[in-house]
Amino acid sequence: MKNFLYHWKTADNWPTLLFLLITPVVALFGTLLWLNLGLFNMPTLWLSFIFLVITGTGITAGYHRLFSHRAYEANRFVQWYFMLAGGAAWQGSVIEWSLDHRVHHQKIDSAQDPYNINEGFGFAHFYWLFHRRQRDWNAERHGDLVKDKMLLWQDRYYGWIAALSSFVLPMAIAGIFWGDWLGGLIIAGVLRTVINHHLTFAINSVCHVWGKQPYSDKHSARDNWFTAFFTWGEGFHNFHHEFATDYRNAIQWYQFDPSKWLIWALSKLGIAWNLKRTPEEKIFARKMNMQEKKITSKIAQRGEALLSLAQAKLNEKKEAFQAAANKLTALRKRYQQDQPAKKAMRRAQWKALKNRMAIHSKELKEAFEAYCRAAREVYNN
Ligand SMILES: [Zn+2]
Ligand SMILES: [Zn+2]
Repeated sequence: MKNFLYHWKTADNWPTLLFLLITPVVALFGTLLWLNLGLFNMPTLWLSFIFLVITGTGITAGYHRLFSHRAYEANRFVQWYFMLAGGAAWQGSVIEWSLDHRVHHQKIDSAQDPYNINEGFGFAHFYWLFHRRQRDWNAERHGDLVKDKMLLWQDRYYGWIAALSSFVLPMAIAGIFWGDWLGGLIIAGVLRTVINHHLTFAINSVCHVWGKQPYSDKHSARDNWFTAFFTWGEGFHNFHHEFATDYRNAIQWYQFDPSKWLIWALSKLGIAWNLKRTPEEKIFARKMNMQEKKITSKIAQRGEALLSLAQAKLNEKKEAFQAAANKLTALRKRYQQDQPAKKAMRRAQWKALKNRMAIHSKELKEAFEAYCRAAREVYNN
């Protein structure tokens, strides 16, 4: 594991390195100057917060879930919006960001992973950006990015677009409307950029070190609700690495995932569609495997005889689960195959089918809960 000094000495991406190290200094002294001059005012703080929300969700719902993972589709207006909103976060062009991110998913925790956590927390957080990276501009593999004219335009003029949308725009708004040019630039521009940077970086560092692994422990990604709170829902990273094309990162209604809510709202407006959701039986199955893994390893420590007894008990519950899961999958297939016109014609049948789906879904949840109870019982005895 190499430290900051090593990455500093071997750095070859100087524009990015200087930007990352100088912006926090400018933010700190600029904010002190702003306060010292008695310029503090609420409208500038509100503007900064609005910019933080717009640029933050531009990265999460736009750069990440739309462009990198294609977890849903959206019309050109939405694509333009996210390209500009995410672009104002100073995290590079959509193409650069997405190409790196796709490799992160494919080669997670390996030497090819651009933000490989095994190189250390600091590296995964942002030292990786000190080095130039060769990116795979393969039109076959990444044609959706590298053949898209809008994205190529953004990539070409990235610096100008970011400077205008991230620094000049908030400065102009605060300056023209309430005379706070300095606050617009420093607080809503630079300070907000620094905060947004490190919140995004935390996904690659914090969420690969701390948190729970309910779906898989084959990789370092973790669910961390605390980080999710500051990153518009992206903290549920164990789920995300398991089901990367799902437009959701959190699946429970009480889990904080505003990026998901935003995408859902866009779909209700008819400007986003084809929101990809992982079938619930798949999610349950993954969760069950993890629970079984944890429990059997604990029981195995107490002896083989107890382990085989436990497995027999668990298998029974698993069969019930599988039966419900199969029924649900079959029903969903039928549900999805029907064309909308046909759906209207057969509304009554349609409704019955939906009701049955709900029943099977309930059965599935019950079977899963029974499995969890059995697993706990076996372990406690
Ligand atoms: Zn990750
Ligand atoms: Zn991802």
